[in-house]
Amino acid sequence: MRMNKSKPILAFIFLLIWSCQSNRVAIENKEPSSVYNSETVLSEETDKSKLVKKLERKISEYQGSAQRDFDLLHTSLDLSFDFENEWVIGEAMLTLKPYFFSQKTIVLDAKDFEIHGVALVDEAGKNDLNFQYDTQKLTVYLPEEFSLKDTLTVNIRYTAMPNENSGSGSAAITDRKGLYFINSDGEENKPTQIWTQGETEHNSKWVPTFDRPNERATHDIKLTVEEKFRTISNGALIASTANGDGTRTDHWEMNLPHAPYLMAVVVGEFVEIEDSWEDIQVNYYVEEKYAEGAKTVFKHTPEMIGFFSDLLGVKYPWQKYDQVVVRDFVSGAMENTTISVFMEELNLDERAAIDSEWDGIIAHELFHQWFGNYVTNESWSNLTLNEAFANYSEYLWYDYKEGSDEADLHHVSEMEQYMAEASRKQVDLIRFYYDDPEDMFDSHSYAKGGRILHMLRNHLGDLAFFESLKHYLTKHAFQSVEVHDLRLAFEEVTGMDLNWFFNQWFLDSGHPILEYEVDYSQPDNLLLTVAQRQDFETTPLYKLPFKVSWYVDGERKEKDFVLEKEWQQFALENETPVSLMYFDERKVLLAEKNSFRGLDHFVRQFNES
Ligand SMILES: [Zn+2]
Repeated sequence: MRMNKSKPILAFIFLLIWSCQSNRVAIENKEPSSVYNSETVLSEETDKSKLVKKLERKISEYQGSAQRDFDLLHTSLDLSFDFENEWVIGEAMLTLKPYFFSQKTIVLDAKDFEIHGVALVDEAGKNDLNFQYDTQKLTVYLPEEFSLKDTLTVNIRYTAMPNENSGSGSAAITDRKGLYFINSDGEENKPTQIWTQGETEHNSKWVPTFDRPNERATHDIKLTVEEKFRTISNGALIASTANGDGTRTDHWEMNLPHAPYLMAVVVGEFVEIEDSWEDIQVNYYVEEKYAEGAKTVFKHTPEMIGFFSDLLGVKYPWQKYDQVVVRDFVSGAMENTTISVFMEELNLDERAAIDSEWDGIIAHELFHQWFGNYVTNESWSNLTLNEAFANYSEYLWYDYKEGSDEADLHHVSEMEQYMAEASRKQVDLIRFYYDDPEDMFDSHSYAKGGRILHMLRNHLGDLAFFESLKHYLTKHAFQSVEVHDLRLAFEEVTGMDLNWFFNQWFLDSGHPILEYEVDYSQPDNLLLTVAQRQDFETTPLYKLPFKVSWYVDGERKEKDFVLEKEWQQFALENETPVSLMYFDERKVLLAEKNSFRGLDHFVRQFNES
């Protein structure tokens, strides 16, 4: 579905004028018995009711940001696991306050739980509360109205059954259990593990919460497991206590606020490979037999943390950074705050590790620690604010580590990935209409978003681009954002208006289809003609800054132009006569480009190469 910001309104006004005029005509020519007229009225009614239905759907199906009735401040969790039934036995203490308006009920996401009791906790103790539970939402009735000056603590005892209602996956993840038991009875030929996958709204399968990306809270989690298991979670391990019955309770504390979908728990028999960057612990966790391989697979991580910290001017913002490789993961990898989880393809022995390369996915998850975790999309409609950056980080890393040729290859392959998807569907990058949040995880949000950032960087220059990102990250640290926050950050730093850029690329669909031709008849002043050939009914007429380049005695010359018409000519005024020029030589433009070049062009290109 495509919902343009301005066009439907224009179309609506047009239809309104059209229908008013038609009505007037119908009234003036009063011939009620005429078959012709009743059909006209009928068709008008049908058209109007279609339009009304469409407009009503536009309101009812709009995917906005979740309304915040409460602000969750802190969650204390105490979890143990029933491996036989694959259940989570939990007790949660939620500290929260009304967001603005006074509240008498709390509605929490708690999917497929059995609720054993809900209580309000104060100095005097616990007071049981009435609640209603419909297997997905827990509605808690408070004894009185609480205002935004009040902070309250609610205790919930529950059993979570993550396997209930599971099985329906998506292109992004293959299931939505939230918490997964792997080989829980030990009968299969693989290790026994537990791990979680919260994005998009699946952590409420094991913790009662406001499972929306615009929520943000600290938490601490107690995990009681068999002695043989290691636990890994967000933040720092602050205590580990043997219980004397073959179990141990690990206490993890996440004292910096982050979104609920970024909470994570991993349990299993892993070895720890210690590494570090500056004063930050950077550990890798894998099954013992892959320990040597992991040292190779993840070896660039500290250097990456340093590279991204310097590039962004914002030091890695969290307590530590763990990377864990688990079995049967439902996605490629997930950037939970301070603990990224990877699929088992990264389980490699020493030899296989040398022959493989995982820097792209490692960079991607790491960059999310800034874009996604430190600053978070306020709704899944804005997913590209997380994924475009993570996607672009792969290019940034390759460019730094492997050189521009390697980076360009990656860039072109990402562009092709988007183009392949665009041949099947073209949707707004920021889109407020989708059936399922998981639908947002496509090559638009990732590859197209990354290419748009590359264009913006080329338009503004490196200094302005990275200064703007630093401003965006600093201004919105520990906050949720929408696309306008990104635009404003760029505008505040550069002093430029960038509405045109964001409107055509982030808030609209499609891409330019360009035809171009170079007139070489005047070698000291080549003439470039460019035409936009996309369908303007569905795609913008673009304003496109671009570069042309040519070489004089092996030296590269470059000039900036802006295409802002359907058909436009540009005189190069190159002065020194040249016989060959390149339009967008570095393939910055996310566009289909077709040249009308005669045979003489290819002869020139052959002679010059
Ligand atoms: Zn990502």
